[in-house]
Amino acid sequence: MRSANMFWVHFIPVEVNPEIGVCGGGPPRTPLFPELFRSFETHPYVLWEGFMHELVYFYPQGHEAHMEVGHPERPDRVEAMVKALTEAGWWDSFPHLEPAQVPREVLEGVHTADFLGQLEEVCSRGQRFDMDTYTTISSWDLAIKAAGGGIAVAQQVWERDAQHGFALTRPPGHHATPNRAMGFCLLNNVALAAEYLIQDKGAKRLAIIDLDQHHGNGTQDIFWARGDVFYFSTHQYPHYPGTGRVGEIGIGDGEGTTANFPLPPFSGDQAFLTIMDEAIIPLLDRYAPEVLLVSYGFDPHWRDPLGNLMLTAGGCGVLISRLADWAEENCQGRIALYLEGGYDLDAAAACAQGVVAALLGQEWDDPLGAPHQPETSAWQAMFKEARQLWDL
Ligand SMILES: [Zn+2]
Repeated sequence: MRSANMFWVHFIPVEVNPEIGVCGGGPPRTPLFPELFRSFETHPYVLWEGFMHELVYFYPQGHEAHMEVGHPERPDRVEAMVKALTEAGWWDSFPHLEPAQVPREVLEGVHTADFLGQLEEVCSRGQRFDMDTYTTISSWDLAIKAAGGGIAVAQQVWERDAQHGFALTRPPGHHATPNRAMGFCLLNNVALAAEYLIQDKGAKRLAIIDLDQHHGNGTQDIFWARGDVFYFSTHQYPHYPGTGRVGEIGIGDGEGTTANFPLPPFSGDQAFLTIMDEAIIPLLDRYAPEVLLVSYGFDPHWRDPLGNLMLTAGGCGVLISRLADWAEENCQGRIALYLEGGYDLDAAAACAQGVVAALLGQEWDDPLGAPHQPETSAWQAMFKEARQLWDL
C-alpha cells in the first residue's frame, strides 16, 4: 500500500522490527504532524522512517542551454512535464534535490576514461558527437549535473530518506555506452546511479527496468557481463538502435541478467501489462533486487512522433504502479525513475502525471485516452519465445 501518510505506513512494522531503523540516514525532516512527532520523540526508529519524503525530484537547472534548433530532444520536453506536475499540485510540494558530486571512480566504472575525455572535448567545442547527438558548450557540465541528480535521487531512495524518486534527467542517458555518446544521450545517468549504489553504498543486486520506446543499448552494454545489475527492456523492434532481441541475455557473470522484450509496432497497453505481470515481475521475484531503477522514456506513448507503440499515459502509470507495489513488498519501497525520451509534449506531460500519480498511489484520469487505432497482437509470438527462454 502506498499512502500520502507515510507515518502510519511505517509505524507498525517499525515497532515490530526495530532493525528497520538502521536502514535510514540523516536527521528526521520537519514533521508533518508535530503532535505525533512529540509523542514519539523517544522512539528513534519511528522518527527515522516516519518523516521520510514521499517523493523527491531532480530538476536539471539550466538545461535549456543544451539544445539545438529543430531537434526533438529539446528543453520543452522537461518544461512540459514540470508544468503538468505543477498543475496537478505534485511539483512544488516535494523536494527538488541538488546534483550530487559524481565520483571519478563511478564515472570510470561506467564509461572509459578515453571516452570521458573525448566527450568533454567535443562539448567544449559544441560539436556533434554523431549524426543524432548534438552538444553545446554547456553540455558537459549539464551531463555531469544530470548524472549527479540521478545519483542524488538514488541515494535518497536507497537510504530511505525518500520513498520514491523521479529524476528529470536531461540530457538523457540510456543509449550512452561505455565508450560512446549516441541517440541524444551523453552520459548514462541510470547506469551511473546504479554504479554509485554499488560502489558507495554496497548494493549487491539492482534492477534497471527500461520502459522507453527504444532499446537501452548503452545500459545493456555496460552491465552485459555483470551479475549485479539485472537489465530489463521493453522496446519497439526492429527500430533504433537495432539491439534488444529476446536472445540477448548477457554473458559470463551477466548471463541471465539481461532480459529483452522487443515489441512489434502497434503493441500497446495489453502487451506492456502482460509482459510486466507475466515476465518482469516473476523475474524480479527470482532475482530479488534491493532497489528498482526505472529508465522511463515517455515515447512508447501512442502520440509520440518517433515510434509506433500504442501505450497510453494511463498504461504508463499502471506499469509504474506495478513496480512500486513490487518494491513496497520486496525491497522497502525503493524505486526511482530516470527520464529518457518522449518527444510529444502533450504525451510527455500526461505520462509524467500518470507515473507520479502511480508513485503517490493516487487516482488519476488520462486526458489523452486510447489511441485511434487498436493495438495488434503480433507481440504474442515474441512473448511465447521469451517465456520459453526464461521458463515462465
Ligand atoms: Zn526513446
